[in-house]
Amino acid sequence: MAAEAAPSPATALAHARRLVVKIGSSLLIDAATRAVARDWLASLAQDIADLRQQGREVIVVSSGAVALGRGRLNTTPGRLQDKQAAAAVGQTLLMHAWEEALAPHGLITAQVLLTRDDTERRRRWLNARATVEALLAHGVVPVVNENDTVATEEIRYGDNDRLAARAAQLARADLLVLLSDVDGLYTADPRRDPEARHLPLVESLGPDILGMASGANADAG
Ligand code: GLU
Repeated sequence: MAAEAAPSPATALAHARRLVVKIGSSLLIDAATRAVARDWLASLAQDIADLRQQGREVIVVSSGAVALGRGRLNTTPGRLQDKQAAAAVGQTLLMHAWEEALAPHGLITAQVLLTRDDTERRRRWLNARATVEALLAHGVVPVVNENDTVATEEIRYGDNDRLAARAAQLARADLLVLLSDVDGLYTADPRRDPEARHLPLVESLGPDILGMASGANADAG
């Protein structure tokens, strides 16, 4: 029997009832001002509101706490505890920005901070799942981030792409959308390799595709 063809990205988006959308710091934070890119966030909030209007459920995974905290404290990358302090400062700024962007659409925002442990221990996984389900049942938009303030190097995701994949599993989402400053999968890092080719659709994961993955982006903090 022939293998079923993977749906195109547009078809997957059209059919998804529950989506996880991950937003990278490089999109959300203006590099020059080190503050939230408010116009960009406002247009994303409009898209989220449109999806909600269509009866779709949206979970956001948002980076930006460390970058915003560093902006507010006027610090640069340093020791782990300084990064964690920046995350503690920046997380409130981040949630404030989300609240401000979504409230005009009548949408309620919820902060969900997870550590890797929360998604690897069954009991905590089930608790987190129940909370996310309850939030969605209330029509709330959960905004997930890693609990960077307490997650130390050994026990942290460190990278919101991985956290977003886990959040999508946890919420049994139909689709995970990763919004970043790179417009898809490339055969190599396009910023370093001029020969890198964009792959619009990956139908199956083999060693060739896995071999194209490299380390986390610099914005992982
Ligand atoms: N959790 C980090 C933050 O909010 C971001 C990690 C990432 O960008 O992948 O700053």
